[in-house]
Amino acid sequence: MFYCIFFGDFLFFMMIPSDIIQQIKDRSDIFEVVNDFVSLKKKGQNYTACCPFHNEKTPSFSVSQVKGIYKCFGCGKGGDSVSFIMDIENLSYPEALRWLAKKYQIEIPDDDKPLTDEQINQFNEKESVFVIHEFAHQYFIQQLKNTDEGKTVGLSYFKERDFRDFIIDKFGLGYNPTGWNTFTKAALEAGFKEDTLIKSGLTLKTDKGALIDRFRDRVMFPIFSVAGRVIGFGGRIMTTDKKVAKYLNSPETPIYEKSKVLYGLNFAKKTIREKENCYLVEGYTDVISLHQVEILNVVSSSGTSLTIEQIRLLRRFTPLVTVLYDGDFAGIKASLRGIDLILEEGLDVKVLLFPDGEDPDSYSKKLGQVEFYEFLEKNTQDFITFKTNLFIKETINDPIKRAEGIKDIIASITKIPDVVKRELFFQLTAKLLDTKEEILISESEKIIQKEKKKAPLLEENKTQNNEETNVTNDENITEDKQKEGVFIFSREEKGEYKQEKELLHLILNYGELELIDEKPLLFFILNEIADLNFHIPLYQTMLDDMRLEAKFDRVAGKEYFLNKENEAIKNLVAELLMPKYTISESWEKKFMVFTPQEKDHVLVNVQEVILRLKIFYILRMIKENEKNLKNAETEEAQDNCLMVGLKLEAMRKEIAKGLNNAIF
Ligand code: ATP
Ligand code: MN
Repeated sequence: MFYCIFFGDFLFFMMIPSDIIQQIKDRSDIFEVVNDFVSLKKKGQNYTACCPFHNEKTPSFSVSQVKGIYKCFGCGKGGDSVSFIMDIENLSYPEALRWLAKKYQIEIPDDDKPLTDEQINQFNEKESVFVIHEFAHQYFIQQLKNTDEGKTVGLSYFKERDFRDFIIDKFGLGYNPTGWNTFTKAALEAGFKEDTLIKSGLTLKTDKGALIDRFRDRVMFPIFSVAGRVIGFGGRIMTTDKKVAKYLNSPETPIYEKSKVLYGLNFAKKTIREKENCYLVEGYTDVISLHQVEILNVVSSSGTSLTIEQIRLLRRFTPLVTVLYDGDFAGIKASLRGIDLILEEGLDVKVLLFPDGEDPDSYSKKLGQVEFYEFLEKNTQDFITFKTNLFIKETINDPIKRAEGIKDIIASITKIPDVVKRELFFQLTAKLLDTKEEILISESEKIIQKEKKKAPLLEENKTQNNEETNVTNDENITEDKQKEGVFIFSREEKGEYKQEKELLHLILNYGELELIDEKPLLFFILNEIADLNFHIPLYQTMLDDMRLEAKFDRVAGKEYFLNKENEAIKNLVAELLMPKYTISESWEKKFMVFTPQEKDHVLVNVQEVILRLKIFYILRMIKENEKNLKNAETEEAQDNCLMVGLKLEAMRKEIAKGLNNAIF
């Protein structure tokens, strides 16, 4: 049976009929897809958020539901639903399609053509590790629920911990029995390969070559990706043997990067967004216990302190993190540094301290739902206040320690990127410590100066440069120039590239409209610019494609380019389709709503842009001709140049006249 799951999955992966691909694309709503991962806020006709693909504190990531695309104006990434899933879940094109098919419950029919060896070899390593995790997940659940050992050992342990059935199901808890290789044996029998088992981290190979289970005699906690796929496990030992670690976790595998995963986020993300707060706890059992008392916005980092990636992941969903501490003082002190990191990333931090010897798991059970809520409400305090009070208590009779403590608090406040918030905390802390605010601020400035000296100068220069030039990637003509970090454009050149870009913008948005002679507008444009080429290589690549497709009477429009697996093109297309892309200010207003009248504007604009491009083209030729004239060695050559010059000048005037007509 499990072989079927595996094999079915496999086919699913290998071939997706093209009409199904279209169906998946049609059904995929970019807003719904992106909103699963990032908290989108409505802004005008678009949605915005902080970009999930690069680190930023103010949102430059934009989603247009109407156009079905996303675009980050900070890092340049953009595309459609499929490319978003590819990027964010790190999947291949067919994997992303399948992901979307699952989301929208679109069935992909099995194809019973036999697979070739080559196709089997192509079966992606990551996918096979995913599949084996799905198998393991089912196997562990099966063991927990349907075997005597599972019931008496595993299930009764969960019952003892007060986990109810629905929560056991929700979190997919399982059991792997005693013995050396119960899971591995089952997996091999189901047709999984030794190699895949080892790659998954679920099976180990001993020095003598025997295959054994990593997890033995443990209750199993599956670890899920943000999207809800099983990517690893944590296992808690059932014996009280002090020599064996209580908790054992999956190692790093092709699908499990510990530093980037938060346990419970797949279940929590929706509520985190709604509450604009996320509780951070120590481990699996705390997350699960809070779910039992209906606190759903909770995650944990599997037994380690938070990494920067995890913090940034959280920041996609919430501006505030509330850290729940058990009452162990040494533990708190050790984790304070980690909290500075959260502040530094621009998140607000609150903390809540549990009474000595209690953790969220034990205490929520002790108090019950209602009282536990009250406890959270009453005892949550902001981190700076918490830290300050902690030091006041600790250093009451020790002036030296006290001075150190104050410096430490100031260092924390200094990490907060927001000036206004920083100022508020200086005020608050000054009051708590009974000192002058100015002293704290001047201490903070010292820290900043020190940091500045430490920071490599190069970094600073780099960012300055970027801000000054402010030229997007596709406009960087040569790679060499790009590498040097300088973009030398003359004013005309900049104007010319802008026109090229605007023409692409018009083509992508309106190229399919049949405005003239019942033919797609694109064909008219291609005809008009038959003698021109674009100067930006990326634009030219697209133009080449359009010309080629047009030969077969096909329009290479947004669909065509978004389906190309070319990152740079996709990013550009998304930018050009986003309403934020504007050449002239009135443009956006004109085309907010598309009415029949405005079709005329499209035509006028197209003509205008083409004429401008032609003018630029002629200006180039005039310049070239002037150079030739200077270098001309014979009288005949000079005359020739003069003649050409006159003709070019006449053409320029003619076009300029046309342009005037087009404008007025
Ligand atoms: P006990 O019944 O002895 O209290 P426990 O299962 O509740 O054991 P604790 O030692 O109380 O475990 O730890 C609390 C939480 O910390 C657990 O939810 C667990 O997920 C997590 N944890 C502890 N050690 C590890 C570890 N090595 N790796 C991952 N998570 C861990
Ligand atoms: Mn415990």
